Amino acid sequence: MGKRLAFGMCLLAAGSVCAQKPDGPQPVVAAPAEAGRPPSDAVILFDGWDNSGWSTRDGKPSTCSISDGVMNCRTGVGTIQSSARFRSAQIHLEFNIPSMPGQKGQLRGNSGVLLQGRYEIQILDSFENPTYADGSCGALYGQSAPLVNASRRPGEWQVYDIVFHAPSCAPDGTVQAPGRLTLFHNGLLVQDHVPVVAKKGCVDEGPLALQDHSGFKDAPDTTMKFRNIWLRRLAP
Ligand code: MG
Repeated sequence: MGKRLAFGMCLLAAGSVCAQKPDGPQPVVAAPAEAGRPPSDAVILFDGWDNSGWSTRDGKPSTCSISDGVMNCRTGVGTIQSSARFRSAQIHLEFNIPSMPGQKGQLRGNSGVLLQGRYEIQILDSFENPTYADGSCGALYGQSAPLVNASRRPGEWQVYDIVFHAPSCAPDGTVQAPGRLTLFHNGLLVQDHVPVVAKKGCVDEGPLALQDHSGFKDAPDTTMKFRNIWLRRLAP
């Protein structure tokens, strides 16, 4: 009989057979996503047809329009948030930033994905549009610049795949440990398990929110497009 090593290989004497490790608990089966489709166990936040699961911060129905499977959110509709709440989650979202050649820096296609409604992953047209690094597309805003600039040209669809582990909190709401963020932008790793600092305390659960930048100084008229938004809740 071969001797099993910690990393699953066997030392075999001549003619011996390594014992197979017995089966244990199995991962739950989840059908993987086909192109453009969510996986089988996803919570669908926007399926292309119905935005009834979204509202403004003050509870009014979202007024983003829907056409051809796309949610169109024009400046002034207000930041919208999902009725679904989550603590830690895998999140998928696709976005399309209009071409705004008359603008630059933070005024060119600014939106954002707000995890638990509070930690912003920046959405910005960062294609040949320099700005401060921790405010560029793919940044955890104000905390962590992206590892690379993976931005596509404005007008092209882009993808965020997010793994968010929420900050851990004591019962009184004080922060015990920072959260963690891993982010792929158009398939490239741009945030690698970086800390998510809860500067205003933390919450048990929160929504996914999409930023309307209209409340910021000199914000121009912009229509951001979103599609195919889903999440999978993760165990703590
Ligand atoms: Mg923003």
